Amino acid sequence: MDYKNLLKQQKEFFNSNATRDISWRVEQLKQVKQLVIENETALLNALEADLNKPAQEAWTTELSYITGDVDHVLKHLKKWSKPRKVKTPIVAFPGKSFIQPEPLGSVLVMGAWNYPVQLIFAPLVAVIAAGNCAVIKPSDLAPAVSAVIAELVPKYLDTNAFSVVEGAIPETTALLELPFDHIMYTGNGAVARIVMTAAAKHLTPVTLELGGKSPVYFDKSADMNIAAQRLAWGKWMNAGQTCIAPDYILTSKELVEPLVNALKDQISEMFSQDPATSDSYGRIVNQRHTERLSTYLDSGEVVHGGSFDIEKKYFEPTIVVNPELDSKLMSEEIFGPIFPIITIDNYLAAKELVVAREKPLAAYIFTKDKTQQKDWVNTISSGSQCVNDVIMFNAVPDLPFGGTGPSGMGQYSGKSGFDNFSHLKSVLKRPFLKDLPVRFAPYTNLKFKL
Ligand code: NAD
Repeated sequence: MDYKNLLKQQKEFFNSNATRDISWRVEQLKQVKQLVIENETALLNALEADLNKPAQEAWTTELSYITGDVDHVLKHLKKWSKPRKVKTPIVAFPGKSFIQPEPLGSVLVMGAWNYPVQLIFAPLVAVIAAGNCAVIKPSDLAPAVSAVIAELVPKYLDTNAFSVVEGAIPETTALLELPFDHIMYTGNGAVARIVMTAAAKHLTPVTLELGGKSPVYFDKSADMNIAAQRLAWGKWMNAGQTCIAPDYILTSKELVEPLVNALKDQISEMFSQDPATSDSYGRIVNQRHTERLSTYLDSGEVVHGGSFDIEKKYFEPTIVVNPELDSKLMSEEIFGPIFPIITIDNYLAAKELVVAREKPLAAYIFTKDKTQQKDWVNTISSGSQCVNDVIMFNAVPDLPFGGTGPSGMGQYSGKSGFDNFSHLKSVLKRPFLKDLPVRFAPYTNLKFKL
């Protein structure tokens, strides 16, 4: 495919102003929803092939996430795209001031493999809502989903505005040489640096949705059973391959045993005594990542699980107590089903540990203590947070989604996505009435001293 020509054609279409028309955007958004609804089976099968994703999990975290997102955007699109009035100061009087959102042009959307449907279509919904064209690059590590997306997008969406490019490093490298108007990348920090370096050449703005080690502080006041259920769901859904999964738990010594027992109960409740045979438990994306996870078990005490089968890409839900803080398990983003629990003296020590590390994509606290809750929210810097839950902030469409520092830049979801892929253009509109003379030279009549 001639990528240069593809982008040129998209830009020509964009310059025809067709995408500025709200009804065109509404039509495209409805088509995204139709694509998902009418091809549910093909998408679920592809997710099973790539990640052994259980159908119900895939439906909630990927397919219905997108249809819900489309509904939310359709409900608000007219309002978001209207000029936003602001006050005009006396110096510009009489006059009207407003912010006019306008589309950027062509956006390169690069997805990751862990939620390969959601991470293409959720950004795309925001890109379309804001009136842009897009070149879509699904992850090569989820090849079945990539193939389905490549087949379906041209059938449902306006081919003047949307194209799919499948491939790995050579294809992405070639795409990154082009002067897109925005790049939306979801994935790891190392590739994010390649993306941002390439973007710098054209001064292309970027949105980077990255990862990190999302901590959990677990206090004695937390409800053990409810918390353990929420934590187990967040950690072992998609076999731990969730960017906002709780990465590790910090708690006091006396809570370790009851917490481990409560988590073990949840594992057998959710995935039976033998998760290898459970229809509700996913697989690691490939053998390389399964092998990577196997190297994390050399520090701390494995108190549950620990078995894996590299060939079958299976990794048991695993709990490790007190690995060294400088071990691989506690230095790298786990992105798999291993849950480290670290004993810590108290809340302040936990906070100190979290603050000393890179800003994570999410940070979670389980406590009934209102002072701790408030302090956590006010002083821990992270992309997003939940108090007494994990991941669920992502189910609230009006909450922006995105990281901070090494966990990413830029946000999407709901209005934040619309704004992220828009230029918020400032406009001052004035009638032909005489201005205050003080504005113009010669300045001989200046009445005010600075
Ligand atoms: P990945 O391997 O699928 O890579 C992401 C994209 O980058 C793909 O389209 C891939 O083809 C491309 N790519 C890979 N290597 C490249 C290179 N050298 N040059 C140019 N392009 C290249 O996904 P990944 O990075 O393994 O994903 C896992 C990471 O993504 C984790 O850190 C996770 O936390 C993060 N993540 C973040 C979010 C979020 O929304 N913040 C969501 C999911 C995953």
